[in-house]
Amino acid sequence: MTDPACKACNGSWPSTDHFVADLGLSKVYLHDDQFFPGWTVVVFKRHATELFQLAPTERFQLIEEVNLVARSLAETFDARKMNYELLGNQLPHIHWHLIPRCADDPAPLEPVWSVQHGPVRLATSTLQDRIQRIGSGIARLR
Ligand SMILES: [Zn+2]
Repeated sequence: MTDPACKACNGSWPSTDHFVADLGLSKVYLHDDQFFPGWTVVVFKRHATELFQLAPTERFQLIEEVNLVARSLAETFDARKMNYELLGNQLPHIHWHLIPRCADDPAPLEPVWSVQHGPVRLATSTLQDRIQRIGSGIARLR
């Protein structure tokens, strides 16, 4: 079940070189913007736009996959708090933004969307290192 007009279904987002792991119902990618280190996206594999459209067993497994990634990110980045964002206003296809909020967070009381900043794009070696660290953390907890 895919929607060819959907960026998540047609493969134009997220970038395949940011791929971290395939968890079964979802795939994990490092977010393009690393202003908040470890910002990760969990994308449901098939096209659906609301949690209530999923079968209960599917919804349960998806939440378990999101939980696994969140726990791994919290440990890998020593987060003081994890943020979970399931919005879909710009891209309705179900995807979570998981953002570790760390001790040096510039605006710990604000949602990331309201923190003005230039996007931080990692150099290839740093990008690969970060993907490897997140992937190892997920593999260790699976
Ligand atoms: Zn889609």
